[in-house]
Amino acid sequence: MSDKRRAVAIDGPSGAGKSTLARAVAKELGFRYVDTGAIYRTVGCAAHRKGLDPGDAAAIEALLGELQVEMTYDGEGLQHMLLNGEDVTKEIRLPEISLYASRVSAIPAVRAFLLEMQREMARKYDVIMDGRDIGTVVLPQADVKIFLTASPEDRARRRYLELQQRGTPQDYDQLLAEIRERDYNDSHRSSAPLRPAADSILLDTTDNTFAQSCALLRRTIEERLGR
Ligand code: C5P
Repeated sequence: MSDKRRAVAIDGPSGAGKSTLARAVAKELGFRYVDTGAIYRTVGCAAHRKGLDPGDAAAIEALLGELQVEMTYDGEGLQHMLLNGEDVTKEIRLPEISLYASRVSAIPAVRAFLLEMQREMARKYDVIMDGRDIGTVVLPQADVKIFLTASPEDRARRRYLELQQRGTPQDYDQLLAEIRERDYNDSHRSSAPLRPAADSILLDTTDNTFAQSCALLRRTIEERLGR
């Protein structure tokens, strides 16, 4: 058996179901799931706490010097984010942090700051890593590259149902506008914009059930890994 670690890169826009699907399939295949959005959210959270403008590159760059960002896994294999030693896993999911994460992630110094910790995970473990630039920048040698997407309306609808179930409903039109804004920010930034790697496989989950998308993702990965 080869010692080489295997890596699956999953990129795509916000709300396409990447993290839920990647987490489920990683568990089935015995891979470690790495949510890179959570890392950017942790930097966004630090900027938010300090009351900084997330578009102020100089201020955010200065902030990086004060930050220690770490990723740990609990006994159930769930990823936790630590900001200067404090567990911020819950806080980074607050809606206001989403836009902060999207803004700070456009700053090249932020991307450079977080690059090595992502690569380190792929050196240590078999990973399914999701994000925006995993197949293009972080792990260009990944064994499997997937670009997972769904229509903006479908993504907003899923988010709407999810928030309703959680008891924190939000207006559908507002969610759709936010998704479009994040799509625009992510794909128009000059540093590592969201785009499919040339050798990626496109999976569109619009109108799929979760089970259908999960089966499709697993089949695609297994075929590519030659399992
Ligand atoms: O995936 P998630 O929505 O949690 O990511 C939060 C934000 O972090 C995204 O809007 C995106 O701007 C940024 N991000 C990134 N590169 C990644 C993962 C996330 O720029 N690899």
